[in-house]
Amino acid sequence: MEPLRLFDTLSRQLKPFSPVVPGTVGVYTCGPTVYDYAHIGNLRAYVFADILRRVLEYNGYQVRHVMNITDVGHMTSDSDDGEDKMVAGARRERKSPEELAAMYTGAFFADLALLNIKTPHVVCRATDHVPEMIAVTRRLLELGHAYEIGDGIYFDISTFPSYGSLARLDLQGQQAGARVEVNREKRHPADFALWRRADPSHLMQWDSPWGKGYPGWHVECSAMGMKYLGDRIDIHTGGIDHVPVHHENEVAQSDAFAGHRVVQLWMHNEFLLVDGGRMAKSLDNFYTLTQLTERGYHPLSYRYFCLNAHYRSKLNFTWETLAGAQTALERLWGRVAQLAGDNGPRVESLEAELRQRFQAAVNDDLGTPQAMAVLWEVVRKEVPSGSAALLLSEFEAVLGLDLDRAPARRVGSTGEVPLEVKELVAERARARKARNWPLADALRRRIEELGFVVSDTPDGTTVQPAR
Ligand code: AMP
Ligand code: ZN
Repeated sequence: MEPLRLFDTLSRQLKPFSPVVPGTVGVYTCGPTVYDYAHIGNLRAYVFADILRRVLEYNGYQVRHVMNITDVGHMTSDSDDGEDKMVAGARRERKSPEELAAMYTGAFFADLALLNIKTPHVVCRATDHVPEMIAVTRRLLELGHAYEIGDGIYFDISTFPSYGSLARLDLQGQQAGARVEVNREKRHPADFALWRRADPSHLMQWDSPWGKGYPGWHVECSAMGMKYLGDRIDIHTGGIDHVPVHHENEVAQSDAFAGHRVVQLWMHNEFLLVDGGRMAKSLDNFYTLTQLTERGYHPLSYRYFCLNAHYRSKLNFTWETLAGAQTALERLWGRVAQLAGDNGPRVESLEAELRQRFQAAVNDDLGTPQAMAVLWEVVRKEVPSGSAALLLSEFEAVLGLDLDRAPARRVGSTGEVPLEVKELVAERARARKARNWPLADALRRRIEELGFVVSDTPDGTTVQPAR
């Protein structure tokens, strides 16, 4: 098998992959800030992380995938200015931050399920980990990496000489060209908040050694990453926009805390564009997965569309290319339906050659476009039907396009309930507990789209395949 090579953002190089503990891989993915629906640009980041996980599994590694849910502390500007996005969202929707988080977390997991994105082994909410964030902040203060000013505790980047190396930042230039600082007490414009004091009217606040307040966004990921994956994390993923602030800050906090390099490999996906510019909530140029399905597109057409581009290439979204992806996927599914259960002829030497090329593609920094080309050869070429059926089901483990079951057969005849559906049922239970009926109904509809029915009985909720 071709050795796995992955691109490392820090060194800007392709590197042969080898985990800290042989055979197992810890992956941390920055999760969504749940103040609104995820747009399909955000979802590109999770399709990428899912492909990474599946390729690692395909290589025989046992993966532990951790993803956070940011439900406090992410300010309207990625640096520390502005207002907490959750607080602003709660006001916009006349909900409590908790209701807002429950609603959009549920919607997010519904999207993941529809995109065949495997549920991470650990999903951790920032608001459930405030004590861990306080512990990291306290330690950074003790070590002299942080200082206290009027509105909170800040990381002192001058104590971390390699600060800026992930994004290759020009800190000197930043210092000289700094605009009038909102917070004049900060020692350097790039110093960032670990803990913010909150006035009594602030919607989300916790006790801390420094008075009531709330954690900074960056320390959330350091604290939760190290809690669930230890202080040597094999791979950390996120979108490219996270490099200059969020991840640069995470490196500084985590490495200063642990006294050594915590994240071994940083991986970032490029942007999904629309009309040549970044798709972003703040630019109001985004689409959600629901908008795609409302226009008649299958969610997996969007997954197919993403796999057709390399994760480190910019990808422009147009309805035409999505339509092209859908047509191609339907053709693939048509072929899958013909091959279903085929025990026809096989040619093992041809299987070995195609398998080798598929592996070489995905092991070359997740080369999904090349892997898709091999997939199409299996479908188009004169590959004997038994071999084609076998290869399609093997490739499916990486691609996640339902190639082993035509859409109409999504519900296995075994009656087994997949993990994604269980996750949706659990989210629905949380929504019902929070008396969030619109979300509970939306989740029920998603569960039904996946071919299952939920029934609420006096003995509890049951879920079973639809007849
Ligand atoms: P957020 O909910 O804003 O924290 O973003 C969730 C994820 O989406 C992060 O990993 C971002 O880097 C990523 N992201 C945001 N916009 C885009 C985009 N247009 N294309 C690809 N990834 C994006
Ligand atoms: Zn993060």
